[in-house]
Amino acid sequence: MKTIDLRSDTVTRPTPGMQAAMAAAPLGDDVFGDDPSVNALQQAVAERLGFEAALFLPSGTQSNLVALMSHCQRGDEYIVGQQQHCYRWEAGGAAVLGSIQPQPLPQQLDGSLALADIDAAIKPDDPHFARSRLLCLENTIGGQVLSPDYLAQAQGLARRHGLALHLDGARLFNAAAAAPGDVLANARAICAGFDSVSVCFSKGLGAPVGSVLCGSAELMASARRWRKMCGGAMRQAGGLAAAALYALDHHLERLRDDHALARRLAEGLQGIAGLNVAMPQTNIVFADLRPELAQRRGAGLLAHLAAQGVLATGLYRLRFVTHLDVDAEGVDHAAAALRHYLEN
Ligand SMILES: *Cc1c(COP(=O)(O)O)cnc(C)c1O
Repeated sequence: MKTIDLRSDTVTRPTPGMQAAMAAAPLGDDVFGDDPSVNALQQAVAERLGFEAALFLPSGTQSNLVALMSHCQRGDEYIVGQQQHCYRWEAGGAAVLGSIQPQPLPQQLDGSLALADIDAAIKPDDPHFARSRLLCLENTIGGQVLSPDYLAQAQGLARRHGLALHLDGARLFNAAAAAPGDVLANARAICAGFDSVSVCFSKGLGAPVGSVLCGSAELMASARRWRKMCGGAMRQAGGLAAAALYALDHHLERLRDDHALARRLAEGLQGIAGLNVAMPQTNIVFADLRPELAQRRGAGLLAHLAAQGVLATGLYRLRFVTHLDVDAEGVDHAAAALRHYLEN
């Protein structure tokens, strides 16, 4: 039986084309700065997203951490959403390793941080307070896209108070593919106005591992030092960089296929009694079980799906993520398996 793995868009395997690019990649020693494939990737990402420089890192978690440590000194603080990856899902690294205080704010239903909340959280220059230094946003967040208007307003507010801006753009290209037009041009527009952006290549873009952090040459020089201190300097990393560069060249426009499959899945789940499904904006579908149904049928649900070859996560709130190793047949099978379980 074929497995349909909807747990995350991180589960993709490199395509034959990507594997060929990895095998053919010229290699050097990236700690000496002379791995040509890593340098090519960094240059391509920086140029295409409109930054001076970029740095290849083994994970998005390390990329965010290194970005925070480059922007903030000990005793500074970053303003961030409660649900954002670089607050909630990174083991408290910024606080533990960076001595940077997080100032978490509630996420609005659309994934944004209320401007009034940001404004109220920015602290005056006073020895009682940590120094408010940085605003972190995430796009997409929970599969939702932050609007260009919102980004401009949040950036304006941060600038008026002298804060720097970091974007956790792990799924930047999904946000870019959700709007009409050229995906790369959209991505570049989203990045404008941020001092740093972190992009994951191991999610919808389909590379096995790796993230790229972008910013000014000065910020990236600092990030390189923190990356070393965080243990993330790699040597012949060119094979991995070549996979990411291949994804950048070949997998941007196809993200729209993932978004179409997510909509197809959401449509397939519509009308099941006790299940609320929101129409996805990108590649993540959330399906909420009403409490009564969750109590009655929730416990065995994921195991039942797994027995049918469908892997998902969540309990009351199920999460399905589409990606390049999922097709229409798989998505239809997943919807049918869930419907069969909940309606019987
Ligand atoms: C996955 C993810 C990360 C971290 O990426 P890893 O490579 O898994 O460490 C950071 N931010 C967001 C929003 C993510 O979804």
